[in-house]
Amino acid sequence: MNCDKCGADAVTHAAYSGAHLCETHFCESVEKRVRRRVREDDLIPDDATTEDPETWVIGLSGGKDSVVLASILDDTFGVDRRVEMIALTIHEGIEGYRDESLDACEELAADLDMRHEVVTYADEIGVEMDDVVEKDPENMAACAYCGVFRRDLLETYADEFGADKLLTGHNLDDEAQTALMNFLEGDVQQVAKHFDASIGSFDDREDLEAFVPRAKPLRDVPEKEVALYCHLRDIPAHMAECPHAEESYRGEIKELLHELEENHPGTRHSIMAGYEELSALAADRYREDGEGADLQECAECGSKTSREVCRKCRLVEAIEAV
Ligand code: SF4
Repeated sequence: MNCDKCGADAVTHAAYSGAHLCETHFCESVEKRVRRRVREDDLIPDDATTEDPETWVIGLSGGKDSVVLASILDDTFGVDRRVEMIALTIHEGIEGYRDESLDACEELAADLDMRHEVVTYADEIGVEMDDVVEKDPENMAACAYCGVFRRDLLETYADEFGADKLLTGHNLDDEAQTALMNFLEGDVQQVAKHFDASIGSFDDREDLEAFVPRAKPLRDVPEKEVALYCHLRDIPAHMAECPHAEESYRGEIKELLHELEENHPGTRHSIMAGYEELSALAADRYREDGEGADLQECAECGSKTSREVCRKCRLVEAIEAV
C-alpha cells in the first residue's frame, strides 16, 4: 500500500480512519494530534511568560507512552522558555521490571537535557510492590494498591516541584479501557472524577484548587500508533510489560476492547466521545449535590481526602499489620 499523502510506501493503515501513511506522514500525524490536544486543553495559558514560566511535571515511567510524550513535548516546547519541564519517575520496587525502565528514563532525560527526578515507594511509603503482592492484606490485584500509591506520589511531588500541570502518557486505549471499566463497575462517581481531573474543569472549581491540574496529551493516539512512533523515532523505551499487568481486571477489558475494535473500527473513539460528555454531566450532578466540597487533610500524611485518613495511608496501615 502507498501513502495517501505522497505515494511513498505506507508503514501503517488505520482501520478507524481508512488512512494509509508513510513514515514521515505517520509521525507528523501523531505529533499533530498531541499538539492539537495541548492547544485545545489550553495547557499554556496566555499569561505564561519567560519570566514567569509554566512548570510541567511529566510522569516518566520509561514505557513507550511516557517516553513518546516527553519526546514530543520536548520537540515542541523544549526551546519555548514559557514552559519548564521536569520528568518524574516513580519506582514501585518490582524486581526485573522497573530497574530496566529506569535506565530508559535516564537515557531519554539525558538526551533531552531534561531535569529528571526519581521517587521510590520504598523511601516514600516504606514498602515495595513485591512485598505488597506477597502480603496482600485486602485480597486485591497488585494494580489496585499500586495505582493508589502512584497517584499519591505523582500528586505530592508535582506539588513539591511547584508544578502548574501534571502530564501523563495515557493513550487512547488506556482511556477507553478506564471508561469501560467504570461503566461495567457501575461507578458513576469515578465517571464524574474523569471530568474533574481533566484540565478544563479547573477553571471554575474552587474545590479543586488543592490539586495540580492533570493533562493527557497522548489521549487521542491509539496504543499501537504510540509503539510504532517510538520505534520509528528510535526513542529509548522499555517495552516489557509489568508482570502484574495481566492479572488485573484492566487486562480482561483490554482484550475485550481489542476484539471490539477489530470488528468495529472506531469503537475506542466513540467510547471516549460519549464518555467525555457523560462525565461532564455526572460531574455537574455531583457538584449540585455538594460532593467533593468537603475535602480535608489526611490525619496521617496531610494529603487531601474526603475521609479522616486517606486511602493510601489506610492501605499502608493494612500492609504493615500483616
Ligand atoms: Fe503497578 Fe499494575 Fe502498573 Fe504493574 S501494571 S506498575 S502493578 S499499576
